[in-house]
Amino acid sequence: MSKQKGNIGVTTENIFPIIKKFLYSDHEIFLRELVSNAVDATQKLKTLASMSDFTGELGDLAVRVSLGKKTITISDRGIGLTAEEIDKYINQIAFSGANDFLEKYKNDANAIIGHFGLGFYSAFMVSKKVEIITKSYREGAQAVKWTCDGSPEFTLEEVKKEDRGTDIILYIDDESKEFLEEDRVSSLLKKYCSYLPTPIAFGKKKEWKDGKQVETEEDNIINNTNPLWTRKPSELTDEDYKKFYRDLYPMSDEPLFWIHLNVDYPFHLTGILYFPRVKSNIDLTKNKIQLYSNQVYVTDSVEGIVPDFLTLLHGVIDSPDIPLNVSRSYLQSDSNVKKISAHITKKVSDRLQSIFKNDRKQFEEKWNDLKIFINYGMLTQDDFYEKAQKFALFTDTDDKHYTYEEYKALINDNQTDKDKTLVYLYSSNKNEQYSYIEAATNKGYNVLLLDGQLDVALVSMLEQKFEKSRFTRVDSDIVDNLIVKDEQKADNLASDKQEALSATFKSQLPKIEKVEFSVVTQSLGENSNPVMITQSEYMRRMKEMANIQAGMSFYGEMPDMFNLVLNADHKLIKNVLEDGEKACATEISPINEEMAQVDKRRNELRKEHENKKDEEVPTAEKDELNNLDGKWDELKNKKDSVFAQYATNNKVVRQLIDLALLQNNMLKGEALNNFVKRSIDLI
Ligand code: ADP
Repeated sequence: MSKQKGNIGVTTENIFPIIKKFLYSDHEIFLRELVSNAVDATQKLKTLASMSDFTGELGDLAVRVSLGKKTITISDRGIGLTAEEIDKYINQIAFSGANDFLEKYKNDANAIIGHFGLGFYSAFMVSKKVEIITKSYREGAQAVKWTCDGSPEFTLEEVKKEDRGTDIILYIDDESKEFLEEDRVSSLLKKYCSYLPTPIAFGKKKEWKDGKQVETEEDNIINNTNPLWTRKPSELTDEDYKKFYRDLYPMSDEPLFWIHLNVDYPFHLTGILYFPRVKSNIDLTKNKIQLYSNQVYVTDSVEGIVPDFLTLLHGVIDSPDIPLNVSRSYLQSDSNVKKISAHITKKVSDRLQSIFKNDRKQFEEKWNDLKIFINYGMLTQDDFYEKAQKFALFTDTDDKHYTYEEYKALINDNQTDKDKTLVYLYSSNKNEQYSYIEAATNKGYNVLLLDGQLDVALVSMLEQKFEKSRFTRVDSDIVDNLIVKDEQKADNLASDKQEALSATFKSQLPKIEKVEFSVVTQSLGENSNPVMITQSEYMRRMKEMANIQAGMSFYGEMPDMFNLVLNADHKLIKNVLEDGEKACATEISPINEEMAQVDKRRNELRKEHENKKDEEVPTAEKDELNNLDGKWDELKNKKDSVFAQYATNNKVVRQLIDLALLQNNMLKGEALNNFVKRSIDLI
């Protein structure tokens, strides 16, 4: 055969500019493509040998990657190619409708390369000229050299080559010089080729000699041809799994658990998933799972392939059945991928279930690290919830763990309210809500600790899943009102006394930005605290949800609303009231008289209007009523300011408020300083 010339069989004028132009984002994958072609050719030869279709010496089968000044060469000793095969596999590229497709998937090099079987041509993303020097394994084969400079024109000529196999020589173009750097190539090989099934040699091993690094005779093999996930679980020890994890994530702590996946039917999938130990939320990153196809690294973006909550796991998944030549959005509707995703979910929940059943102690010890995954899974995936509700745990403020069912049985008798609703009490912070937890446990209630970052959302979900149940934070009301068991006894303090107390305390509340207080008076028994602060469950939760959910910013903008609860039974509150009434009597009684008169006239008018239509009421009377309302408000304000005046000189009022604030971690800065000074004075 003399030197041949020809045109590559493409319908488009010239595919190389297109390859370069459209595949800009992922140029580096050329190396993966060429090395895996070399590996394939080598594996094929091994297969032929095992079936006695090849009877020659296999010899050293390592694939070699070497750098010249301007070239990268990938050499293998696999099956090689004949001239006819080059024509068939390299020159003829099925390439119809190319432009449309490229336009659609221009950001997804994997899709394009997979779609066209363009693996080899990805060489042109980085090269101005490519040579293939190859000799088939067949007896008496003639070695050939194929050359192409990026135009559709190629040349093919006979050459001398000792050994069977293929050398692919890339003449790197000026924009791609980075790929001539040893470090860059080394890190690419590590990324894409670490677990390929044939040894890959990149240069020679180096060692230190006389203070210098020198090359040894030994090949620098960069891959592990037998990665853990391809081996039988029965042959592996815990230490093997831990070591493999360290190889994958050298910076991470030891994992909590692992799951070895191994499916043959109806799809092929192997892999190992690890539950990482997360030290903080910052550690919690998605996309740590590496996706392989027959040991070739493809991507670490597994969205759409594994369920969202499992993207928090670490490890590897290897499946040739995941279609990589489609876009991500299409992937999620692929039936194989759906099956894979469902299978992985099932495997994960089965494994957790079995650890829970067989080693509950270990499960409980690891619960704190595990809960983020399990709760996230339950929140985002119904079928996972169904399984996980059997082993998901609650932890109470004494650090005891319960399954949902166990916990329900525990609190059922004592924490059911008059409407037959089961009330789950919880704390979100053991230190800050200490006194409330104590009050609740003294009453015989159990308090859960829900301080995880997903617990706000979890609580909302569980309220919907559990029947006739409600979650209430311990500080959302005074302990007697947390679980109301019989009809409330009426407040025994007269309303004018309540008003006096309310006005007295309200006037002394410090101004805190975005915080509002309502003052309420209740009979809580003489042994309860004189003043307490509570925060309505509903408003607080709305705000918390607003923080984690879009479209609720309205609630996020609202101030925090607290109740300042005065215990009318407490000696100190009684003292303040008596003292205040005495001190203000002369000023208050004329105001009261006037108010009584206003009230009397108001009631007369209202009674008269009771059965009349609006248009039947004379305008003069309407005006009078309006005036009376205004007058009444004015008098009320006047009265409040009398009590306020009194309160300014009463250190006990201030002190009681500050103590309540202090207990809730709300006394800060100047207010705290004043409190300390006042306390010293009082001593
Ligand atoms: P794909 O690998 O997806 O089939 P490629 O463009 O990468 O597409 O390769 C086309 C064909 O060229 C391969 O199927 C194989 O038959 C042949 N080939 C490529 N590289 C080699 C090699 N190093 N040794 C032997 N044959 C090869």
